[in-house]
Amino acid sequence: MNEKLLKKEYLKKISQLQKYNLAYYDKSNPIVADSDYDKLKREIINFEKKYDFLKSPNSPSSIVGFKPSKNFEKIKHKVPMLSLSNAFDEEDLINFEKRIINYLDKKSDYKIEYSAEPKIDGISASLTYKNGIFVTGLSRGDGKEGEDITENLKTIKDIPDKIVGKNFPEEIDIRGEVFIKNSDFKKLSDKFANPRNAASGSLRQKNPDETQKIPLRFIAYTFGFQKNMQVKSQTEFLKNLEKWGFKVNQFNKKITSIKNLLENYKFLEQKRDELDFDIDGIVYKVNDFDLQKRLGNVANAPRWAVAHKFSANSGVSKILNIEIQIGRTGALTPVAKIRPINIGGVVVSNATLHNEDEIKRKDIRIGDIATIERAGDVIPHITSIEIKKRDKNSKKFIFPIKCPSCGSPTIKDFNLVTKKKDAVRRCSSEGYECEKISIEKIKHFVSKEAFNIEGFGKKIVENFWNLNLIKFPQDIFKLNYDKIKDLDGWGSQSVANLKYSINSRKKISLERFVYSLGIRHIGLENAKLLSKHLKNMNNFLGLAKADKIDELLNLDGIGETQIKSIKNFFCNKTNLNVVKELNKVLSIIDDKGIEKNGLLKNKTFMFTGKLNGISRAEAKSLIEKNSGSIISNVSKKLNYLIAGEKPTKRKIDLASKLEIKILNQADWLKMLNK
Ligand code: NAD
Repeated sequence: MNEKLLKKEYLKKISQLQKYNLAYYDKSNPIVADSDYDKLKREIINFEKKYDFLKSPNSPSSIVGFKPSKNFEKIKHKVPMLSLSNAFDEEDLINFEKRIINYLDKKSDYKIEYSAEPKIDGISASLTYKNGIFVTGLSRGDGKEGEDITENLKTIKDIPDKIVGKNFPEEIDIRGEVFIKNSDFKKLSDKFANPRNAASGSLRQKNPDETQKIPLRFIAYTFGFQKNMQVKSQTEFLKNLEKWGFKVNQFNKKITSIKNLLENYKFLEQKRDELDFDIDGIVYKVNDFDLQKRLGNVANAPRWAVAHKFSANSGVSKILNIEIQIGRTGALTPVAKIRPINIGGVVVSNATLHNEDEIKRKDIRIGDIATIERAGDVIPHITSIEIKKRDKNSKKFIFPIKCPSCGSPTIKDFNLVTKKKDAVRRCSSEGYECEKISIEKIKHFVSKEAFNIEGFGKKIVENFWNLNLIKFPQDIFKLNYDKIKDLDGWGSQSVANLKYSINSRKKISLERFVYSLGIRHIGLENAKLLSKHLKNMNNFLGLAKADKIDELLNLDGIGETQIKSIKNFFCNKTNLNVVKELNKVLSIIDDKGIEKNGLLKNKTFMFTGKLNGISRAEAKSLIEKNSGSIISNVSKKLNYLIAGEKPTKRKIDLASKLEIKILNQADWLKMLNK
């Protein structure tokens, strides 16, 4: 890459990081996980190290936090409020210590004493006291200037407005962390992703009365400007803070040697889930103030301190219970309920245990201390168990042999392809006899790729089920809207919207109808095959006769597994009744196959962004039915790019460059005379 391109790439990354900073620091509402943020930050720093011509005033190697919000008055910090450099493993710590020893020109075996303090994941604040009276309170802001949040800080009970203890300096900025306890966060978890965002959002409100409603706490740990303070070390300062009436962390410790720092780290990592406040690492500070002074700062962090971070992808917590969830196809999935733990900014309280075999293989038990991994979009899962920490009375987990929902026996199918029994255990009932399966079946029925009933989400299915408004899919089309109107959270407008969405879905293609029934092994593709072959609803109902089902074996793509599943489905009276009842209320469109000379003949299409009132799957099938085809890249082969809401800019740009026609949803539907 040449210099110009490198610079462009670098500045793009910086501007991306600034967007993340704005969302996280200013709006208290991050748009990416911490691990993704940290990855981007590392990439930028590595870029700068490799190419020394790359420099930006907004580089994460020189900035702190984010500029103060316009909602508050800006006030300059007399002593800047810095960030901390990070360490992730033993090697980083060894290097940190080496750098200090070299800088101070000490012998390599010089013993440095550290103050090790749990790093509470909240937001920092600086409180100015003059003659023992709390006068001004600032947020960190960009480190140089903070927001004047004095009135909000005054609502926090842990912050003394007057100091009575001895030897309090004439003037001092006491600095520490404003946070919210995990138990208090529970009440706010709908509004914020984690306690840190909840604390930040609550503290930086315009109206102190609103802040007062949130139980914020304050723990003190350092100082900024000070006049006449007679203290020699960080640990002595922490002791004084307590005497002056501030809360300090009960796990603060004086430690020498990397080995002992690591031991303390392991201890706190394991203790973390038991604490009622979130910590995301441990801060190590050179204890002696004289040495701190000599070491000074780098651009945005002190040279004498480091934050030893906990992993952003995994955490240790206790398994409080093992629950069995039942899916639409009857699969029993064990889920570990764990003591909530913040892993990289996301509070995790469930971890999948996959299946019975996984529990057996790892001998996972209720009460165990487990390491939970949460990386990217993967569902949190347990990677290992601390067998040594296991209680003597702990018992092996016995997987239920009866369905916990309906009591039917559970079975493990014999897989015709692998010639082995499946790892997954299932409820043996054919669907609607089991409450949990029924609910999941209805959720599938209304889902995007099935009936796509807008506004009929999973929560509504559960709610309506519990209120006996729906027990079978056909009930959706006979809802008692008068009753719904009187329910909490509903009004005439929302009921009218729901009614409209449901009625507009009464006309449906045969393939979507078949897919919506949620017959095991009949996904979208198989439903398409069946629809194409059967053509109409009468023929589909004819499958209730065994000989008709066997004819399906001639269909390319339908095998014994699918045939068996369709047979099981139709053998069941309730299923047959559901299909018949739905047939009465719906208008199921015959499958006329693909039109060879349709309106979109020889035309290629691609979608970007969200379409309105139609799922991607339906849109795709509409194009195919009209002889058009879908392609997956913007290239010269593409004739039309259909842009919905929030399209991908890159695709639009490329399409414009290649002079490809860009259509909005309405233009595209016009092509189909709709
Ligand atoms: P930081 O939060 O990692 O470390 C500095 C802060 O630690 C201090 O400002 C102070 O508030 C706090 N702290 C807690 N206990 C302390 C103690 N005993 N002594 C000293 N300080 C203590 O630094 P940062 O630069 O503010 O933020 C970086 C973190 O924020 C990273 O973890 C990053 O992933 C996250 N972040 C995430 C996003 C996102 O979009 N997800 C955006 C920005 C930042």
